[in-house]
Amino acid sequence: MNSKQTIEMIEKLKQTYPDAKCSLNFTTPFEMLVAVILSAQCTDERVNKTTPAIFAQYTKPEDFANMELTVLESLIHPCGFYKNKAKNIKATAQILVEKYHSQVPNTMEELMKLPGVGRKTANVIMLEVFSNPQGVAVDTHCKRIANRIGISKQKEPEKIEQDILKIFPKKYYYDLNHVFIWHGRNICTARNPKCEKCPICMYCQEYQKK
Ligand code: SF4
Repeated sequence: MNSKQTIEMIEKLKQTYPDAKCSLNFTTPFEMLVAVILSAQCTDERVNKTTPAIFAQYTKPEDFANMELTVLESLIHPCGFYKNKAKNIKATAQILVEKYHSQVPNTMEELMKLPGVGRKTANVIMLEVFSNPQGVAVDTHCKRIANRIGISKQKEPEKIEQDILKIFPKKYYYDLNHVFIWHGRNICTARNPKCEKCPICMYCQEYQKK
C-alpha cells in the first residue's frame, strides 16, 4: 500500500465510524487511569459496569493508596486478574500521592514507570486525558487488522505500533486509536470477518488472497 492509499483507507474508516471514540467512562484523569488498568484482558463494557460503584465511594489516589488490598480486590473482582490489578492500582496510587501531588503525570516516560501501565495504557492516557497522542494503542483488534491488511507482519504490539507510525501522519493518531477498534468490533471480527461489507477490502492483503 502506498502513502496515498493509506490516507484513503483511514479516511474511509473515519467515514464509516464517524462516532468512533473511547468507550471507557471516566470523569477525572485518575479515574481514567484506573479504568484503563482494569480494562486489560477485560471488556470496556464490563469495566464501565464495575467502576461507577467504586468511583461513587472512592475518587482520589489517596483513597486507593490507603485502601486494604482485600477491599480493592473485591471491588474490582468482576474485571478479572483482580489480585494483580489491585496490587498495581494501589502501588500506582501511592506513587501519584508521593511523587506527583496526586496528579496523573503527562508524559509517556513517567506513565510507563507506573505499576500496571505499559505502552498501550500510556498511549490511551496521553490521548484521552491529555489530548496529546504519542502513538497508537495496539489492542487485539488493531493487531488483527494490521496483520490482515498487511501494514504489519509483526506479532508484538510495540513492533506493530512502530510499523503503523511509519506510514500514517501524526494528524491521524487520534483516529487510528479509535477506528481500528470499532472496525474490529463491527466488521473485521476475529471469527468470520464480514469482508463483503468491508469499506477497506480493496486495501486488504488477506482479502486479495481470497
Ligand atoms: S477485507 Fe475482511 S479481513 Fe480485510 S480488513 Fe476488511 S473485514 Fe478485515
